[in-house]
Amino acid sequence: MPGRLEHRVALITGAGSGIGLESALLFASEGASVVLVDVNIDTAEKARKLLVEKHPNAKAVTVKADVSKEEEVKLAVETAVKEFGRLDVMFNNAGIMHPADDNALNTEERIWDLTMNINLKGVWWGCKHAILAMRNNPIDESKGLHKGGSIINTASFVAIMGAATPQLAYTASKGAVLAMTRELAMVHAREGIRINSICPGPLKTPLLMDFLNTDEKKNRRLVHLPMGRFGEAIEVARGALFLASDDSSYVTGTDFKVDGGLSSCY
Ligand code: NAD
Repeated sequence: MPGRLEHRVALITGAGSGIGLESALLFASEGASVVLVDVNIDTAEKARKLLVEKHPNAKAVTVKADVSKEEEVKLAVETAVKEFGRLDVMFNNAGIMHPADDNALNTEERIWDLTMNINLKGVWWGCKHAILAMRNNPIDESKGLHKGGSIINTASFVAIMGAATPQLAYTASKGAVLAMTRELAMVHAREGIRINSICPGPLKTPLLMDFLNTDEKKNRRLVHLPMGRFGEAIEVARGALFLASDDSSYVTGTDFKVDGGLSSCY
């Protein structure tokens, strides 16, 4: 049976770790050629090696890029088109959660700006250059390659609920990702470009485990999780695969929650 991303090209930011890494492996297993983008080229390269080890027929390249810099994102998208001829899936996933005391009274402006530049502006650059590339995608219905493409933006459960552990700049950046995604989805729907956000719950990845850096902090968070456990990055990657593939052909502008029920919890 052909994979769900056969003949398609996917670019994933933050591909060196966590959700990005698991998505790169999963998308490759479904037939995609993958461009692994990360500010940390060593982890991206490790991820690429793992990908080709597990899927020897898969095609994958790495690009070092800081998503907050437009020129670097543009170059990453151009690499996808140059290497593989098109861009079908753009997963704007890279993000940071600064460990600093991030609340309204203490957050430093530089932490606010850093967080916004990576988590929000980085998604804007990713959407902008993906839209420009997807408009030029060659159509080949015999291979299931239609007009446009799919863009997925990683937000977070904190975009829709208040977190008692203060992370103000992070929360604000993720809320803005949801709003921006909805508007972009409406503007580009008739071009065949679907744009959705994905809202992961708390996961066992370095980003959150470094933040909840004591057992007490982890246990306090666990009490609120309906399933009584942190999620795995692969569980979010499976949601991203749904949004990336034609399985979600009538889905755009949505916030897809992969949060173990957390956002429905009282
Ligand atoms: P992670 O820390 O495991 O991976 C993030 C990757 O992004 C790293 O490889 C890092 O090098 C890369 N990165 C960081 N800054 C970058 C930049 N400026 N340019 C390019 N790459 C950069 O984190 P993760 O848990 O896989 O998080 C991925 C996304 O999911 C983030 O947007 C995060 O906010 C979001 N998220 C995570 C959780 C969680 O609990 N882990 C929950 C909700 C949302």
